[in-house]
Amino acid sequence: MYRIKTTELLKKIMGDYFQVLDSGQRKVAWCTSVGPAELLRAFDFEVYFPENHGALLGATRTAMDYIPEAMKCGFSGHVCSYTTSDIGSYLKKDTPLQDHYGVKGLPKPDLIVYNTNQCREVEDWFTFYAHAYDCPIVGVHPPRHLDVVTQDEVDLVVKQFQKMIPVCEQTSGVKFDLDKFRDVVRLSKEATLLWQKVLKTAKAPMTPISFFDGAIHMGPIVVLRGTQVAKDYYEVLLEELEGNIKAGKGVAPEPSIRIFWEGMPIWGKLRMMSDLFLQNQAVVLASTYCSSWIFDQFDETQPFESTARAYTEIFINRSETAKMEMLRNWMKEYRIDGIVFHDAKTCFNNSNSKFGMPHRLQEQTGVPALVIEGDLCDLRFFSEGQSITKIETFLEQIEDSKIMS
Ligand code: SF4
Repeated sequence: MYRIKTTELLKKIMGDYFQVLDSGQRKVAWCTSVGPAELLRAFDFEVYFPENHGALLGATRTAMDYIPEAMKCGFSGHVCSYTTSDIGSYLKKDTPLQDHYGVKGLPKPDLIVYNTNQCREVEDWFTFYAHAYDCPIVGVHPPRHLDVVTQDEVDLVVKQFQKMIPVCEQTSGVKFDLDKFRDVVRLSKEATLLWQKVLKTAKAPMTPISFFDGAIHMGPIVVLRGTQVAKDYYEVLLEELEGNIKAGKGVAPEPSIRIFWEGMPIWGKLRMMSDLFLQNQAVVLASTYCSSWIFDQFDETQPFESTARAYTEIFINRSETAKMEMLRNWMKEYRIDGIVFHDAKTCFNNSNSKFGMPHRLQEQTGVPALVIEGDLCDLRFFSEGQSITKIETFLEQIEDSKIMS
């Protein structure tokens, strides 16, 4: 049974992170997962990410206990289930964080920051909390769905980042220090480049990391980027994975069908999905999701401009033309045999199968595509039996066409 041993270290550093948040010793800024975390850390904020909590609610399958609470408050059951499960958990004053990390509950925010580079839903979600906690809130609104991110767009976002400085100074009590910001960006860059190397180990014939492993091991690059802890963590993980490649150890016992995952994880079904693919001699080894935390444009010599560019150029914030180009490159880079599009029913923004993209991508690359319906947290939208049948049939077809060719 293949196991990534560094998972033990992951549990420890995630536990330490939540203990610090819970201690009340540091000011806390809430931030969206691809928000300007580096700028917030430059003001000594400990940064908390509600989406990470949403993923935990999905992975522990507790989301369904909380979503109805948000619906009672008027939230539709068809909007982002990170939002509804997280708000429901707040309203119920109950969270698996208590059992998982022994903390009292969600950390109280001193400042709330969102970036609509991923979706407009985060604005509604975070504004709910700004009212609930009577807390200052700042929004970053970059131009969206771009083919190419030009200097004009970057300049606009830089201005929005710079406008945050007085609010950050006031709420943190810390004066802005450009050198400190540069240090955080450098650490974040070092961690994100290591994360990139971690993901690229999947190019090996016997991949040492699957998408389902990546969805767990991405924790530090989401919540701890900009810290030494995240950088150190990915050094250890990378060393283990490279060692496994040398030793001929991989997720599957032999080279398998190579699958790419497009869209959100189905958090409550990671294990089931991982086993299903492995039982059918396939490994899901790369994804748009895990790759979304590679910010290789970060540059400490241009901290504002490079972070503005990196956070505006992310996959989810791009046009179909740009997304298709990125996908075509990944198909080649990872020698992909098939791509699975997850049509997440409560996340329109990160479900790219709704307007024919799988069809067009298959035509352009020859890589077969499958669409499965589900959701990130709300398992009412996921039919296990139907998904198993679709995936098994898809993998059989790939296997048959490999034999024929
Ligand atoms: S991108 Fe999707 S899952 Fe993420 S916050 Fe927005 S709507 Fe929710």
